Formats: sequence, structure tokens, C-alpha cells
Amino acid sequence: MSHPPADLAELEIGELEAALDALGVERFHARQLYRWIYKRGITDVDRMTDLSRPLRETLKSEFTVTTPRVVGDDVSVDSTRKLVLELADARRIEAVFIPDTPAMTFCISTQVGCAMSCGFCLTGKMGLLRNLTAGEIAGQVRVLAAATGMLDHAFNIVLMGMGEPLHNYDSTMKALRMLHSEHGLAVSPRRVTLSTVGIVPGLERLAREPLMPNLAVSLHATTEEQRTMLVPPNRKYPLAAVLEACRRFPLKKRSRITFEYVLLDGVNDTPEDARRLARLLAGIKSKVNLIPLNPAAGIPYERPSDERVSRFAEILADRHITVSVRKSRGRDIRAACGQLIVEGGSTKSAAQQIALLMP
Ligand code: SAH
Repeated sequence: MSHPPADLAELEIGELEAALDALGVERFHARQLYRWIYKRGITDVDRMTDLSRPLRETLKSEFTVTTPRVVGDDVSVDSTRKLVLELADARRIEAVFIPDTPAMTFCISTQVGCAMSCGFCLTGKMGLLRNLTAGEIAGQVRVLAAATGMLDHAFNIVLMGMGEPLHNYDSTMKALRMLHSEHGLAVSPRRVTLSTVGIVPGLERLAREPLMPNLAVSLHATTEEQRTMLVPPNRKYPLAAVLEACRRFPLKKRSRITFEYVLLDGVNDTPEDARRLARLLAGIKSKVNLIPLNPAAGIPYERPSDERVSRFAEILADRHITVSVRKSRGRDIRAACGQLIVEGGSTKSAAQQIALLMP
């Protein structure tokens, strides 16, 4: 009987155990496989020396292990490192290693492109080409950990690369479960931050997840009108509804929601905006992360002066809001926020794509 081999990279450990069971192979080998693939970064079954030869032959005929291929590797003057990864269908994504911030952080993608089309983001200009699979999302972490010598070290993961994680909900959460396995990389959900434009049904689902990452919400504006202009999904999920979902979001002790706010010169960075932002966040356990725009050709906004950024931050701080200003990293290699983009676009307009894809 011939059938296409299953991809081990797409299986949670329970699924892998069931697949082995079905072949009459003892389930405990799933843990060994997970250790090789995740913990040791080895996907070639012939190198899995604690498996018997006949078992290796069975595994080779039944399974493949797909891993994103590194086709670009750039290091910034600030040590940020950007990998361009090619997937099985030759599509490309980007994954970024940001050292010492203060922990080591991997910034990974959840989609090829993005359908959200935020007005200041280059990835948004690509449109959405496709969702990543769980194996492709987790695979970025395997590749980054191996490439940076971090397989045996704790690291943070931010879902802040290309794509909108709540727009690819199931694969994103499955990837987190795969990365969480104690037999693999054992990444604690406390070390993972999911960043979203605020797709309300997705936030509500996330609120019920057993394995819940930290939450970051990309706010970027303080009025409905302005947010709709900058973050088009606001039309469907207005600011008020996003904040309401945040108010209801169950937070662990000591944890808070991070609100990201990209500062655009003369657009959303006035003292009045800052005061309105403070009022909107009243009653939410929150902190604010200000991101001065990373400008780029084709983006019709400017980065505000440092004085404007400080003034905005001070107004929030005066109102007892914890605020940080994100230092932009890797701009020289286009690895900074909103600069991840790979060649090849979609023919559909962003609006058409949102209409097609929103739940
Ligand atoms: N789609 C998710 C994940 C992307 S995270 C989200 O929107 O949250 C990337 C973060 O960088 C978001 O907060 C995004 O708004 C911000 N960003 C996008 N373009 C940027 C730019 N040109 N300069 C600075 N930050 C930008």
C-alpha cells in the first residue's frame, strides 16, 4: 500500500504517538523523535542513533520532516539577525533573532504576507499569500534556535513577524503546543507574546486557551475614525470592542496586556492623543510600548522627533501608565517592525482579502 508520507514536523506529540500506534510502533518512540527534532535540531532519521535500524527504516518510509530552508542570513550592526526562510512551496518568510533585549528573543511569522493592510506596515503592502502551517511556525523556532546556538538555552518568542496570528488561529496555537512539549524545546507560554491587531472573536477564544501566551494589542490610535484609517480591521472590530475584550481578558497575577502604539509624526502623536490613550486604558492592567515609526519607501508617514516621542511618553507616565519606547533593531537589514517583506505580491486588493478571510 502506498500513501504519501506524513510530515513529522506537523504533528503534536499526541498525534505522533497515535501515528506510531497505527504502525504498530511503541508510543514512547514519539518522545525520542521529539527530542531529536526539537531539542537537538536533527531531522535526518539516520542520525537518530538511539533508534534501532529496522525502526529507522520504517520511519523513513512512513514519514518526512519538513524544515524551512535558510536562503538568507543577515546580521545587523546591532547584532539583530534576520533569516529569510524558504518553505516547501518556495514561498519565503522572515524570522528574526534579537539578542539581549534583555533576554534572547525570536520574532517569528504566522502568515506569508498579511491581510490587515495597516497603513504604515510594509508586510501589509504584500497582501496575504497564505497561512503558515503549525509545522512552519514551529519550524522557524527550530531553525533559529539551531542557527544561533540556543537549543539548550531559554529564549523568548514574539509572534510579531509577518502576519496576524489571530487570523491563523488554529495553526498558531498548535505550533505553541508543539513548542511547549517537555520532550522538545519546552517553551513556557510565559515566554511567548502574541501580538494582534485585535480580532475580537480570536481574543475571546484566546481567553479560554489552556496554554495562554502573553498578549500584546496593536492599538495605534485613540479614536475610531483614526484607527480605521491606520488599522483597517477596525471597521469590523472597533476600538471600543477591542478594549472591551481586553477588559474581560483573564490575566494571571502580575501579568498585563501590552498595548503597542506606533508613533507617526503629526498624525497620532499629539499630547491630546496621549491623554486620550491614558483615559482609554483606565481600568485595564496594561503597559504601553511606543514604537516610533520605522520609515520606508512607500509608507506615507514620518518618524516623530525624539522630543515628541518623549513628550508622549511623559504624559502617559504622569498618569501612572508603565511606558517603554521600543528601540528599533535591525533597521539596516530591514529586520525592524513593519519592515518584513519578501518579493512577490498578490493580485487581490487588501480590502478584498479582508472580506474573504475575516471570520
Ligand atoms: N499583526 C500583528 C503582528 C505584527 S507585530 C500585529 O499587528 O500586532 C508588528 C508590530 O510592529 C505591530 O505592532 C505593528 O503595528 C508594528 N509596525 C508595523 N509597521 C511598523 C513600522 N513601519 N514601524 C514601526 N512599527 C511598525
